[in-house]
Amino acid sequence: MEKEAFYYAFRIDGDLSQKIMIPMKLKDRVDAFLLNLMKLPTETRNTAPGISGRFTISYYHRPIDIRYERHQTYRGYHLTLRLLDKSHIKLTLGKGALAFDEETQFALNRVMQIPAGIIVISGPTGSGKSTTLNAILRELNRPEINILTLENPVEDEVPGITHCNLKSAKEFKPMIASFMRSDPDIILMGEVRDLESAELAIEASITGHKVLTTIHTPRASQIIERFEQLGIERWKIAQALKAACAQRLIKTLCPHCKEPATGISSNERKTFFLDDTWATMPHFVAKAGGCGACRNTGYKGRTAILEIIPITPEMADKLAQGQITPYAMERQIAAEGLLPSLRRSALRLIREGKTDLAAISKVIDMTYSDG
Ligand SMILES: [Zn+2]
Repeated sequence: MEKEAFYYAFRIDGDLSQKIMIPMKLKDRVDAFLLNLMKLPTETRNTAPGISGRFTISYYHRPIDIRYERHQTYRGYHLTLRLLDKSHIKLTLGKGALAFDEETQFALNRVMQIPAGIIVISGPTGSGKSTTLNAILRELNRPEINILTLENPVEDEVPGITHCNLKSAKEFKPMIASFMRSDPDIILMGEVRDLESAELAIEASITGHKVLTTIHTPRASQIIERFEQLGIERWKIAQALKAACAQRLIKTLCPHCKEPATGISSNERKTFFLDDTWATMPHFVAKAGGCGACRNTGYKGRTAILEIIPITPEMADKLAQGQITPYAMERQIAAEGLLPSLRRSALRLIREGKTDLAAISKVIDMTYSDG
């Protein structure tokens, strides 16, 4: 049967919103319009199974950067457009979605004082890793410090920082080689995704540079294993890595319609390893159907939570000699309860009435206890 319509939907605060239908007869015109914006030659248009591109539009005098991905599907194309509103991303630590609690901010301040070595923030796509790194850079930015970034693309231009826009992975190595000759103090690498970038991060850090980067792993301790998978020996990453962090964005309850609740059911307490104090804990939950202020979702905005594991020289030795596994290290640090963990920070947000169990169990694996 021939389909008569296709649709688009916005992903807002992590969730896809209502589908908006477009008559099928417009599909070729929409496709051509977008390809023209990227000035792509016609021959690549029809032959490539996947097309990536980028363009900028002006929306009420605000420049919006758009990253474009097109995939061939059974029926036609699947498009993903990532919107980047440059007027909105100048976030600073301590404000808005990055208003961390005191414990997290303190641990993060200490991490920022580390003079040399790799500081990694892990998390899935859309967990706000690069936003936090850029906010850290703003904080570290001083006239006497030379900061260079290697990004694909540059998301957040900060005055006083030298940003480099990588067009492809091939540019990475020559770019960083010329970088090192300009004697940077701090290097921001958009992402460690292959052996080459992992090696260069290690190399830069052991020659006395502070390297900030991101990696795609769910848990902070998996950063070490990810470097190993890419081909870096454990002792090397153990010595170079100074802080392993993990970040998530948690949906916050709509302040206009959130509903008070008392206690969490025994079934949920068992599922998510919550102790008996949660049986009578007063908290808030999202209202089903929400209100006009939250587009009937019950949630409004998101806030970041950050897990921080500093790799002390003692811990680095133990990791290098195989006396402790990365996960055992993560558990040990969580059990000490002195550093912010994703689970603990998320549960604190529930106690403060800012979010609910449904929102946190969507983005954090709560089905195991890290205590
Ligand atoms: Zn609401």
